[in-house]
Amino acid sequence: MDLIFLGYPGSGKGTQAKFLAESYNIPQISTGDILRDAVSKQTQLGIEAKKYMNAGDLVPDDVVIGLVEERIQQSDAKNGFILDGCPRTIAQAIELDALLHKHMRSISAVISLEVLKQDVIERLTSRRICTNCRRVYNLVSDPPPSTGICSQCNKAGTIVQRKDDEAETVERRLTVYNIQTLPLKDFYKKQGKLIVINGSQSIQDVRDEITSKLKKI
Ligand code: AMP
Repeated sequence: MDLIFLGYPGSGKGTQAKFLAESYNIPQISTGDILRDAVSKQTQLGIEAKKYMNAGDLVPDDVVIGLVEERIQQSDAKNGFILDGCPRTIAQAIELDALLHKHMRSISAVISLEVLKQDVIERLTSRRICTNCRRVYNLVSDPPPSTGICSQCNKAGTIVQRKDDEAETVERRLTVYNIQTLPLKDFYKKQGKLIVINGSQSIQDVRDEITSKLKKI
C-alpha cells in the first residue's frame, strides 16, 4: 500500500494518515514534519527550508523529493507508506512516479480530503501543537490544558502556534495550494487513482469513509 493524502493544510491529512499508518502498520511520512524537525535542529536543510516555510511558500521540489527517496528506502516502509503533504506540485508528482518506478513500486491510491477553505482557515488559526511530541490541539474543539503541560508527553511550555499557522501565512499557504497543488487532483484522476473523501464530517466518519473506499481497491 503506497498511499498519498491530498488536501488543504488543515484538512485533517495528518490525523487520518496516522490512523491508516497504524491499521496498515506502515509509516506516515509527513514532509512538513521532516522539514520542521530539520528546522528545529538547525541543520543545513533546516536553515534553507525555514525561509520558505515561514513565508508559507513551498520548499524547492528537488529538496523534498530527495527527502522522500531517502525515507521510503528505510526498512519500515518496505510494505508501504502514507505520504502526507507530498507531492505538492506536478513536478514532484512526476518525480515521485519516476523514483517509485526505479524502486519497482507505484502509488496504490490518492486520497483527496475535501474541506471548505473557510473551514480550514478556522482550523489552522486555532491549531496549537506540542513541539516536543507533536500532539495537535485546537483552541475550540480540543483546547490545550490550562496548565501549559502537554497531556500526551507531560512536558511544560511546549505548546505553541506554528509560525505558519498565523493568519496571513495561512492565507498565503491556501493560495499556494490552489495554484500549485490542486492540479494534482486531475493528474491522479487521469491515472485512475483518485479517491475523493468528504473531510467536513467527524473524524470518525472521515476515517470510516476512507477505510471503506480503500477496501474496494
Ligand atoms: P505541512 O505541515 O505539510 O503543511 O508543511 C509545512 C510547510 O513545509 C509547507 O508550507 C512548505 O513550506 C513545506 N513543505 C512540506 N511539504 C512540502 C512539499 N511536498 N513540497 C514543498 N514544500 C513542502
